[in-house]
Amino acid sequence: HAGLMAGKRGLIMGLANDKSIAWGIAKALAMEGAELAFSYQGEALKKRVEPLAAQLGSNLVLPCDVGDEASIDGLFDALTDGWGGLDFLVHAIGFSDKDQLRGRYADTTRDNFMMTMDISVYSFTAVAKRAAALMPAGGSMLTLTYYGAERIMPHYNVMGVAKAALEASVRYLAEDFGKDGIRVNAISAGPIKTLAASGIGDFRYILKWNELNSPLRRNVTTDDVGNSALYLLSRLGAGVTGETHHVDAGYHIVGMKAVDAPDI
Ligand code: NAD
Repeated sequence: HAGLMAGKRGLIMGLANDKSIAWGIAKALAMEGAELAFSYQGEALKKRVEPLAAQLGSNLVLPCDVGDEASIDGLFDALTDGWGGLDFLVHAIGFSDKDQLRGRYADTTRDNFMMTMDISVYSFTAVAKRAAALMPAGGSMLTLTYYGAERIMPHYNVMGVAKAALEASVRYLAEDFGKDGIRVNAISAGPIKTLAASGIGDFRYILKWNELNSPLRRNVTTDDVGNSALYLLSRLGAGVTGETHHVDAGYHIVGMKAVDAPDI
């Protein structure tokens, strides 16, 4: 294969189904010749992930619950046995109690705060450390974030606080691993209708608002995110690290829509 990712091996974490952002990213990488491994969260998802992986020529499909250190170790032991090395990592994982993705942030419970931070923030640090150990010749890592980290978005609540911490951890990891030639970036994706997003209150309204108010006057697709991920994970992104790159049809630059913009 003569593609941009020919000879590159990477792990994709967070594929649940063909609506997942991880799927858009995996397709873009495979199209350019990358060899992929996938991790899934539990037996129920195995049946969904295996056939998708097979479509992209991958049969390295491994279980990993990122809330469990032993499970993360198991994944990286299996990768070490199977491949011995890694060129890139995609972390497309987040979770919070959906009862707290509506109403007020102020009502977040301590338990859900800690669980959300653990699964949505610490997990990236935990896997990044293990992935870096498999990248002696350098590599690239990517996680997914959302504008709710920077500005108030309805119902995003504790997830916004977690994404702010995730973006900060991207910068610290970029410094830690930079001297080893490993880059660490985030894509801040616009709203996309996925399984995780369906847990957020009034999500359809958020989608419509973004469509009407973004400079491109549309929502982004998982393929849009995949193509930008390809840039960050390939040699095209060689000079970029510690960055939160917005793939959101430009929504984040808007202060107020113009008078000739369509009414919402
Ligand atoms: P998704 O539901 O398809 O993917 C979320 C994934 O997280 C699932 O595969 C799920 O199995 C995994 N996961 C949750 N808890 C886990 C655990 N304990 N161990 C292992 N895996 C676990 O939804 P998505 O929208 O594709 O989400 C991917 C990432 O993109 C998330 O970080 C999400 O916050 C982020 N994001 C989504 C949007 C959006 O609008 N959909 C926008 C910006 C950022």
